[in-house]
Amino acid sequence: MGPPGCTVAGMSAQEQQDWDVVVVGGGAAGLSGALVLARSRRSVLVVDAGDPRNAPAAGVHGFLTRDGVPPAELLERGRAEVRGYGGSVLRGEVTGVTRDDGALVVSLAGGRVLRARRLLVATGLADELPDVPGLRERWGHDVLHCPYCHGWEVRDRAIGVLASGPMSVHQALLFRQLSADVTYLAHTRPPEDAEAEQLAARGIRVVTGAVAGVDVEDDRLAGVDLADGTRVPLEALAVATRMRARAAFLAGLGLHPVPHPAGVGEHLPADPFGRTDVPGVWVAGNVTDLAAQVGAAAAAGAMAAAQINADLVTEETGAAVAAHRAASPAAPAAAGAR
Ligand SMILES: Cc1cc2nc3c(=O)[nH]c(=O)nc-3n(C[C@H](O)[C@H](O)[C@H](O)COP(=O)(O)OP(=O)(O)OC[C@H]3O[C@@H](n4cnc5c(N)ncnc54)[C@H](O)[C@@H]3O)c2cc1C
Repeated sequence: MGPPGCTVAGMSAQEQQDWDVVVVGGGAAGLSGALVLARSRRSVLVVDAGDPRNAPAAGVHGFLTRDGVPPAELLERGRAEVRGYGGSVLRGEVTGVTRDDGALVVSLAGGRVLRARRLLVATGLADELPDVPGLRERWGHDVLHCPYCHGWEVRDRAIGVLASGPMSVHQALLFRQLSADVTYLAHTRPPEDAEAEQLAARGIRVVTGAVAGVDVEDDRLAGVDLADGTRVPLEALAVATRMRARAAFLAGLGLHPVPHPAGVGEHLPADPFGRTDVPGVWVAGNVTDLAAQVGAAAAAGAMAAAQINADLVTEETGAAVAAHRAASPAAPAAAGAR
């Protein structure tokens, strides 16, 4: 991938402005969509800011045939596959999208402007961590969120769950599947009575009091400190992040993130195929499905891409029929005429 503002190899200046599809975001969802579109002989450009959500993690887990591959390596392979079918990938940030005479006008940081017939938004989400000093530095290493992404890696370890959201008890129960040593740190979310019973029944210890910071020794999490000075030794800490779709650049189209029904953040709603309420705009991956892991994000990108291609085929067929009729020497007889 080239530096910001680079040109797309092999394209004239005019060709670089007009695309069947611009894909915003080159993670698993965007690249998977671009691959399907490129293989459908669509002109497709992926604009990617290069900051996938799982960048801090050492490996992608649970993705069949690629389990454990470093996130950057997975995406490099994806970009090569897209380019192998004539798709283009550009490092850059989309800052705004508007509509002009049916086309979607895509503005990039640095001033470049592209035009697209359709847009696939696959920009992912931003994780907002609980406001505890030291968490961000350990994020993706031993401060974790997802039992399916890194649970196996911390199996049988001393795992704390920093309770801060509506899913914290659920998260503790999931991590209990991986270790018998789980501590629910009540922090800002003490368990309700029925939840306390569930935690007790599963042998999960509950520690009350606010967590004030994390202890790190030899570049490893060693525990957390409570506000009253108590230290709780731990080897991993699960947190619930507030997940916000990265979609501010769509405001010009009237497309705004809305609260997710689960109360865990904000997303862009869409139908099961990724179609939004805004004509010509599809979404895939974490920007709409906050729970999607890499496999689900890639699958959603492929599904949205197939729908976009079908939508373009329908539009082109309609135009071809109109042109065909206009070119015919005589209009076909009306049905039923004698
Ligand atoms: C620490 C951590 C570890 C994880 N580990 C795993 C794991 O082991 N297995 C697993 O299946 N899942 C894992 N996940 C989840 C995984 O990160 C997501 O499922 C996946 O990244 C979603 O893919 P996506 O394409 O929707 O978004 P992303 O991968 O986040 O890609 C979005 C891309 O869009 C770009 N972008 C954003 N805004 C713009 C813009 N305005 N213009 C241009 N580009 C833009 C970003 O820079 C980024 O490159 C992990 C998540 C975290 C936080």
